[in-house]
Amino acid sequence: MLEELKKEICGLNAALKNNGLVAMTSGNVSGRDRKQPDYIVIKPSGVSYEALKPKDMVVVDMRGRVKEGSYKPSVDTISHLVVYRARKDIFGIVHTHSNFATSFALLGKPLPVYMTAHADEFGAAIPVTRYASPLPFEDVGNAIIETLGKKNLPGVLLRNHGVFTFGENPKSALKAAVMIEDIAKTCWLAMQNGKIKRLPEKEIKKWYYRYHEIYGQKK
Ligand SMILES: [Zn+2]
Repeated sequence: MLEELKKEICGLNAALKNNGLVAMTSGNVSGRDRKQPDYIVIKPSGVSYEALKPKDMVVVDMRGRVKEGSYKPSVDTISHLVVYRARKDIFGIVHTHSNFATSFALLGKPLPVYMTAHADEFGAAIPVTRYASPLPFEDVGNAIIETLGKKNLPGVLLRNHGVFTFGENPKSALKAAVMIEDIAKTCWLAMQNGKIKRLPEKEIKKWYYRYHEIYGQKK
């Protein structure tokens, strides 16, 4: 079942590795099916990125029951499900421990809009959640939702842990994971040489408008 989505999720999981966002088998991408929104496809637990095939992806329902797949789903499956249950508009989720973004999460620091590229892409700071425990299983998802709420944010930093990003489809969640890491890296490098200043709110709005309304080619 969900063969197209499995192929897509398999490719996006491989892209985590290709974009340098993960080490060994950490990290995962999931996607919610548009036609059958009670089902998600997620990476299997502990299988190397190099070995992943579309048929290895696991289909899980909203209660976490495996519907198809010979592997166990990612240990982070419940975290993804808590977010999908709370936010019907989210169809893709990425979780990584990408180095630069996670370094902000370790410090308990959000990522304010320092860069125009951050203003362009997201127009808002990336917040940091409270610390969440691995048990009970729902704690990570609950911490994410407490911070995310109904806000249209591309991602959150999970205190002491890593990054979760969201999208209207799995590809946009991956793009958010790549962009947040890239922005965090540049800010971190600049911070080694001095104090950096946030962009004023009015300027953030202008950059965001220009990028979303004027930039690129009309479809
Ligand atoms: Zn993690």
